[in-house]
Amino acid sequence: MNATSYVAGNPVKSDQLLEVKSPYDNRLVGTVTLANASHVEEAITTALKGGKKLTRYDRFSILDKARQLLVERKELFAQTISAESGLAIREARYETGRAHDVLMFAAMESLKDDGQIFSCDISPQGKARKIFTVREPLSLAVCITPFNHPLNQVAHKLAPALATGVPVILKPSEKTPLTAILLTELLYEAGLPVYMLSTLLGPTHEIAEPLVKDPRVEIVSFTGSVPVGKRIAASAGYKKVILELGGNDPLIIMEDADMDTAVHLAAEGSFRNSGQRCTAVKRILVHEKIKDAFTEKLIARAKEYTCGDPSDPETKVGTVIDEAAAVYLEEVVKKAVVQGAKVVSGGKRTGALLEPTVIVDVPRNAEMVVHESFGPLAPVLTFKDIDDAIALSNSTAYGLSSGIVTNNMEYALRFVKELKVGTVNINEVPGYRIESSPFGGIKDSGLGIKEGVIEAMKCFTFVKTFSLPW
Ligand code: NAP
Repeated sequence: MNATSYVAGNPVKSDQLLEVKSPYDNRLVGTVTLANASHVEEAITTALKGGKKLTRYDRFSILDKARQLLVERKELFAQTISAESGLAIREARYETGRAHDVLMFAAMESLKDDGQIFSCDISPQGKARKIFTVREPLSLAVCITPFNHPLNQVAHKLAPALATGVPVILKPSEKTPLTAILLTELLYEAGLPVYMLSTLLGPTHEIAEPLVKDPRVEIVSFTGSVPVGKRIAASAGYKKVILELGGNDPLIIMEDADMDTAVHLAAEGSFRNSGQRCTAVKRILVHEKIKDAFTEKLIARAKEYTCGDPSDPETKVGTVIDEAAAVYLEEVVKKAVVQGAKVVSGGKRTGALLEPTVIVDVPRNAEMVVHESFGPLAPVLTFKDIDDAIALSNSTAYGLSSGIVTNNMEYALRFVKELKVGTVNINEVPGYRIESSPFGGIKDSGLGIKEGVIEAMKCFTFVKTFSLPW
């Protein structure tokens, strides 16, 4: 696939090409024509100049048409996701379904009115007036996305912005640009006025950094790692900043847990998407009384997650994003082993392919549990009671999500109240959500500002109030 950056519907002209290679076998999957600083300026001025103002019905129609086109092309999207990211094709197909939902919910929300009315004669200080609210779109958004869900992350930025009528300059990950460009082209084809979207790839110092700093940009919406997110926070200046950053989510398994549920959630949470989800299970915290029985079953289950050629429908776990990432994961496992941990399943690496790996007796200060490890690792740690579980869960710098396996309501309520995270899912993986529900973390995982289609639409707008005599 020979793809290109776009400035407002126009393919950029440049001799700078990015080669996108398969993490699995290093074959060339496609190329992308890169943009430069002049394209950034052109994208900003074209977006701000604007064009046909979109009615709610226009926005609904474009998003709904995009949804239909995605259904028609879902196999092309899945193949592209899998080829450029190394994700197993079954995961890539699943991702197209999620992106479908994002477009559908955004289309639906674009039709809804979101104003409020405040009658003013409701206190002794009141008078006969009413105050009304309307939401107005920001003038220009910059959206920066990571590699790990090449389609869905991009859909979660573009759909809410376009549903509110906000022009976007998108800077997708250079590791997975092809899917983002396919979605860009699909949106143009669905009738999106070209001034509403530019998609730029190019060197960080020429594209992403100037876009983040530009005072004409009213919002930067970023999903990615903690260090880059903090850098953006420090450099963005006076504008709205949405940060959806890394996670280190626990699955906490209490002594009363249903064992089959616990094993299922631990394996799915750790290994789906090659463990490369911000909300993947990155720490399995299990009550010491049931640790041995749980570990035995988890080892057996892990063996079902066959790892290999991402294009094979039988493959459950594809590669991680590149060999360097796999080597990093291998290293953190080795470091934990030096500290006393034991690899009880998997652990073998071939290039960017890392077998789903179960590690037990992991010390609490191991690098893989203190920092985010973005891959198919399942580190098992034990705790002695609920106080210990809560303290251990809250002990890292992250606060994205969590999953709890228990049938004890008192336990469930304590976790809901005491975990310092954005989400608590009882008897589910930390990553459980629907695409329209509020989503996002606290502490190093984010500023507590939620995404998900409905909340993200609020981010892309500001509230104007007006009042009238009544
Ligand atoms: P990353 O390295 O932070 O990159 C994310 C994006 O930021 C990429 O488009 C990257 O561009 C760009 N970027 C890099 N340096 C930049 C700079 N100085 N200024 C502006 N943009 C810059 O993250 P990743 O490795 O792609 O993604 C994995 C991370 O994302 C994990 O930590 C994961 O937990 C997190 N994540 C969080 C959520 C959430 O909702 N909380 C969801 C998914 C993923 P290049 O590709 O060109 O370098």
